[in-house]
Amino acid sequence: MSETTETIFSKIIRREIPADIVYEDELAIAFKDVHPQAPVHILVIPKQPIKSLVDITSGDRDLMSHLLLTAQQVAINAGLNNGYRLVINTGNDGGQTVSHIHLHILGGRQMTWPPG
Ligand code: AMP
Repeated sequence: MSETTETIFSKIIRREIPADIVYEDELAIAFKDVHPQAPVHILVIPKQPIKSLVDITSGDRDLMSHLLLTAQQVAINAGLNNGYRLVINTGNDGGQTVSHIHLHILGGRQMTWPPG
């Protein structure tokens, strides 16, 4: 995982590279994953470039709540009435590849457990 806070997601927020944006407000943005792992695969990210779940503090409580509620609304808007999976890959062992915290919304098929 890269140590810089400037990532491809910062470029998406600034509209410097294209993305299929499905939701945006002052704190968060949601866009379709470019390599979908399910029929619906959307990423919800804060505009603030927090690297990972490891880096959040109690001061991020409201922001993290906002991201969860945003994910809930984005999932509803995507028609995921039968459920979905929310994933936050964290650090190297967690499989995180982009150093800007993000919530994966995966849905539209039956998820399996355990994940790989
Ligand atoms: P993670 O492996 O949890 O860090 O997830 C990073 C995700 O970002 C992967 O699922 C990638 O497919 C996705 N991704 C990388 N670049 C882009 C991009 N330009 N637009 C949309 N999704 C992207």
